[in-house]
Amino acid sequence: MTKPDLKFESLHSHTTLSDGVMKHGEVLAAAEALGVGVIGFADHDALPDQEALAAVRAYAGPVQWTLGVELSSYVPASVGGPERGAVHILGLFVDIQNRALVEFCAAAEASRLDRMKAYVKHLQSLGFVISEADVLAVAPSKNIASPHMVKALALHTDNKVVMARIEREFREAAAHDDVLATKLAQTLADGPNQWPYTLFMGSRSFRPAPVVKSSALLPYEDSVKLIRAAGGLAVAAHWYLEPDKMTEADLEAVIKAGGLDGIEIEVENVINDRDLTDGAIASRKLVDRYGLIPTWGSDSHTRADLEAFVKSHVAQDSIGQTARLLERHDVSLRWSHLH
Ligand SMILES: [Zn+2]
Ligand SMILES: [Zn+2]
Repeated sequence: MTKPDLKFESLHSHTTLSDGVMKHGEVLAAAEALGVGVIGFADHDALPDQEALAAVRAYAGPVQWTLGVELSSYVPASVGGPERGAVHILGLFVDIQNRALVEFCAAAEASRLDRMKAYVKHLQSLGFVISEADVLAVAPSKNIASPHMVKALALHTDNKVVMARIEREFREAAAHDDVLATKLAQTLADGPNQWPYTLFMGSRSFRPAPVVKSSALLPYEDSVKLIRAAGGLAVAAHWYLEPDKMTEADLEAVIKAGGLDGIEIEVENVINDRDLTDGAIASRKLVDRYGLIPTWGSDSHTRADLEAFVKSHVAQDSIGQTARLLERHDVSLRWSHLH
């Protein structure tokens, strides 16, 4: 078999340090097999640990890599703050040993545990069989996210019955509610993986999960400052997927105030395959107007996500992005292996 060209570049990929299913070495091996030549690791509020560092340094193949982070942050106060929810900001080329960043990630980890406890109570109240110990047993790290709780539900076969009951109630309710009907159509289009989130795993689900305010999250401006103080570039992650949290005008106001270095134009993976061209066009326009960095990525959590990425136009758009970025920005490559 001939080896694929390593021309694609995903500056946004997850590992078991947060909600991904592959370890760092496995991501690099998958990238090599699939034709992705640059991987940017960006786990949710989690920095590479010693094991991850050892793995990337031990990798001797052709895939280039860079270590970063994806910070959860409240939307800016001017846009509504904590009440409007949280969005993600990529921190590219950060110093992964920066003290403030390390402390933030430790606080976020503790806060995710609190959230997990509240969610377990919520799931139990819906009739599911689940315990905190179940979730801890399936999570590969202490950085607990929703997919781990969904995975824990699968430990008990009785939960299938509960899930089917809630799905039936949702379909019945959607029959005479336009908003729910739209949500139903969207969930069906997105495939079976989205059901738990539509039904009960989010604050806007059919059976809403409790909103657990994180004591760790910062206002948007402060998250950007944290990334920059760690030597990194702050890039609005997949903004176009959630324009209801920050509108185009909101985003532009942040940019005008100097509060961003770049925008992730598009991501492609198994879940995000809806056609949201308008959002991507808006991002592109803002990037051009304000001279920001455009980035593209897989936002991959699984090998299947990387496979979906390489087959997409997003992968085509990603070609050459890293070299162009490095031409314009003088960042430290201490935690990268790029050439
Ligand atoms: Zn994200
Ligand atoms: Zn992500």
